[in-house]
Amino acid sequence: MASERYQPLQGMSDLFAPEIHQWQTLEQTAREVLHRYQFTELRTPILEYEEVFLHSLGSTTDIVQKEMFAFEDRGGRRVALRPEGTAGVMRFLSSLGPDAQTARVFYMGPMFRSERPQAGRKRQFHQIGVESMGAPDPRLDAECILLQLDLLAAWGLDDAALQLNTRGSKARHAEIAGQYREALSERIDELCDDCKRRIHTNVLRVLDCKQSECRAIVESLPGVPDLVSTEDRAYFDAVCACLDRVSAKYTVQPRMVRGLDYYEHTVWEVTHPALGAQDALAGGGRYAVQMGGTGLSGVGFAAGMERTLMALEGRLSTSGPACDLWLVSLGEAALDFNFALCRELRVAGLHCGMSMVARSMKAQMRAANRVGARFALILGESELESGQGQLKNMEDGSQQDIPLEAAAQAVGRIVRA
Ligand code: AMP
Repeated sequence: MASERYQPLQGMSDLFAPEIHQWQTLEQTAREVLHRYQFTELRTPILEYEEVFLHSLGSTTDIVQKEMFAFEDRGGRRVALRPEGTAGVMRFLSSLGPDAQTARVFYMGPMFRSERPQAGRKRQFHQIGVESMGAPDPRLDAECILLQLDLLAAWGLDDAALQLNTRGSKARHAEIAGQYREALSERIDELCDDCKRRIHTNVLRVLDCKQSECRAIVESLPGVPDLVSTEDRAYFDAVCACLDRVSAKYTVQPRMVRGLDYYEHTVWEVTHPALGAQDALAGGGRYAVQMGGTGLSGVGFAAGMERTLMALEGRLSTSGPACDLWLVSLGEAALDFNFALCRELRVAGLHCGMSMVARSMKAQMRAANRVGARFALILGESELESGQGQLKNMEDGSQQDIPLEAAAQAVGRIVRA
């Protein structure tokens, strides 16, 4: 049992080579696309007052009721590990004053939900998300959806599908929920246990339930776009028209609502066929939240990085940063010489490495191969005596002499050629 303590907690993972290189590629690609759209990175703390999440996510959502890692800190304060990114971003923006109303920020990092771990569902997982602030406007929503699609395409996921819907404005939410509650109450016995409860606590959540018995009933209900006001319907049509104008691909899913209380108007979800049961890759929507007396509205999305990598099915390279040169040292004097040369080359900007301890030639060449070094500089007693080192091209096996007097310059010239 003692050794269990030295494992990560259930549903949490260490991320290291070779997969870490895929993570870095995803992040780097995302940064490029997000900067293109003029978004700025925001890093909020991972631990926040529990209130931040209770207020913005709504206390009846599953995330808040069942999934938050919330506890009391040593000072008796209720705190929680963030289960998603939007609440912390809103907490930060509420301190900005008028600038908050037009902010465009993105975040990337770990989120925590105490769910039952399974394929594609972790307790610590990672999201890349954006928040584009501004009062409801179909163009802002459509721009955010296009960013979502462009990000997926840049990751190589053109085969992901965007499902779109509207929830209408907040003013009509209670009425629409009432209509669904009435229709579902007639068939309450056929719903799953969770949904029997949800009918009373958060009826829209029933529409998102993945259980087959609930799905069949939900399919028989009218779609949300048919229940919203004429103005709200026009808003949704305008979002679709913007997307059509640039030939963006999407499918309207009239009964998809996404469970969080703060959503209004446009909502969407991205699915991917490679994901199986947990097929949601990303989700987004327009929201309005109250944070300490400040009203904030915006539109945003979050994409799960674990599921993005699953959908890519190993299509990203797992090789690490390039290695230009491996310095091979035979004997103490060669180690000392290479120690200084290696530093000089690194300062000059080359990617290079060496064994700091004495090793056999074979072991050192194996190390050079393992990191994919393009060249190896081989140095032993006789090379030090003659003042000429051997530079080996690892791709074609050719060798050439290098004057040790000006080794850094000579090596640099060849490696950079
Ligand atoms: P949500 O914040 O629930 O809308 O989730 C947005 C995205 O985050 C989902 O589409 C998933 O890709 C990812 N995600 C959410 N929960 C988990 C989890 N427990 N494990 C892995 N990825 C998750």
